[in-house]
Amino acid sequence: MTSVLNIEENLKEVHHNIAQACQRAHRSIDEVTLISVSKTKPVELLCDAVSAGERNFGENKPQELKAKYEDERLPQDLKWHMIGHLQRNKIRYIIDKVTMIHSVDSVRLAEAISEEAIKRELVIPVLVEVNMAGEESKFGLAPEETESFIRQISVLKGIAVKGLMTIAPYTTDPETNRPYFRGLRELSIDIAGKSIDNIDMCALSMGMTGDYEVAIEEGATLVRVGTGIFGERHYNVEG
Ligand SMILES: *Cc1c(COP(=O)(O)O)cnc(C)c1O
Repeated sequence: MTSVLNIEENLKEVHHNIAQACQRAHRSIDEVTLISVSKTKPVELLCDAVSAGERNFGENKPQELKAKYEDERLPQDLKWHMIGHLQRNKIRYIIDKVTMIHSVDSVRLAEAISEEAIKRELVIPVLVEVNMAGEESKFGLAPEETESFIRQISVLKGIAVKGLMTIAPYTTDPETNRPYFRGLRELSIDIAGKSIDNIDMCALSMGMTGDYEVAIEEGATLVRVGTGIFGERHYNVEG
């Protein structure tokens, strides 16, 4: 019972913060979708989030996404977002289950997703991951190579590029990430201006528990919040 209360309350607070950030930025709250990042969390907690009205969930491991997708305790109509680094041999687990793949960062991956999608007569909405801070530990394209990358993958029939995604550096001061969020939005506007066939730049996936309010002020349309809803993640030492 306690978990029901916690998650409901956490979600209320997150939605309140989202609304306030929208107000500060003179944006409508309809422009921002909360993705509840449920990786490592048990289905019971996702049920609590569903009861509280959530529909969009984010996972970073294909097998875990598949298992939760197929779990009978959860409704069929949830929207699943693949937000983590994706290996090509895992695409088949999730291709028919995802609303969007946020983490496309190589031509080989984009081609493999497209190929698998075409086999099943699907067109998968994807985002291109950009490493705005140039962190070596992170996946994603350098901002300056993003446009030519997008031109290259724009010919693929099984995917539809919908925008950009970034994972900002870990920080205790969200203001330090504002330039990265602003930079991603500028890059997105830049690329939108090139009117590349088959390419849409309507989605900006940026902002996590520590910095989603700043991300919304800078134009995020999808925020990915885990800890702020479900609490800290406890990773098993053995992995
Ligand atoms: C885990 C994860 C999140 C959520 O992070 P929190 O700090 O727990 O909100 C968001 N985006 C990606 C890509 C993640 O892997």
